[in-house]
Amino acid sequence: MESKKIYPEDVVLEPVKLDCLKAPNGKIYAHYFKDRAIYDNITHTKCKTCGINDSEYKGGDCFSCRSKKARERYMALPTTSEFPICDDDNHFFWDEGDLEEYLEDNDLEMEDMYLYAAERKPFIPLDYEYWSDQSTEDGELPSKMEALIDDFNKKLKDIPGLYFQNEKLRYRP
Ligand SMILES: [Zn+2]
Repeated sequence: MESKKIYPEDVVLEPVKLDCLKAPNGKIYAHYFKDRAIYDNITHTKCKTCGINDSEYKGGDCFSCRSKKARERYMALPTTSEFPICDDDNHFFWDEGDLEEYLEDNDLEMEDMYLYAAERKPFIPLDYEYWSDQSTEDGELPSKMEALIDDFNKKLKDIPGLYFQNEKLRYRP
C-alpha cells in the first residue's frame, strides 16, 4: 500500500503559546530551561565547597578551596626521594643542593612546591611511514632506507631518553 503523500501546503501549523522567560542577555528560554537561563547570565557563584568565597567557575570551587584540594591530591601521591625531580613549572632539579638554591633564590618553602619525579622517556623510534607524506606514490621505501632506519633505531635504543615529569610520583626528602 502506498503511503499518503504530504506536500508543504498540507502541513497545518498551529500556534502554541509557550511558557518562556527572557533573560538579561536578551535570550528567550523555555520555562523548563530556567536553570540554564540563570547559568548563562551569571559570572560567579558561591564556592561549592566553603560556600563563602566567590567562584568564577560557575558551580565550582573558589581559588582557595581549589588550591587546598590540589594540595591534598598532591600529598596523597606515592613518594620518591630520588633525584632528578621537576616542579609543576618544568624546572628540573638534579640534586638537593640544586633544589635548596632555587628555594632560597625565589624565597620559597618546600610547602609551596609541587615536586614530582623526573623520569627518562625513551626516544620514539623512526618508522617506515616517516616520509610517506612526501610522496603520493603508493610504494615502499627503498630497501637501503629501511636498513638505515633499522640501524638508526637499534642505535637509538642505547641513547638514554630525555627527562619528563612523572606527575604520579611526588618528591619527599
Ligand atoms: Zn571555597
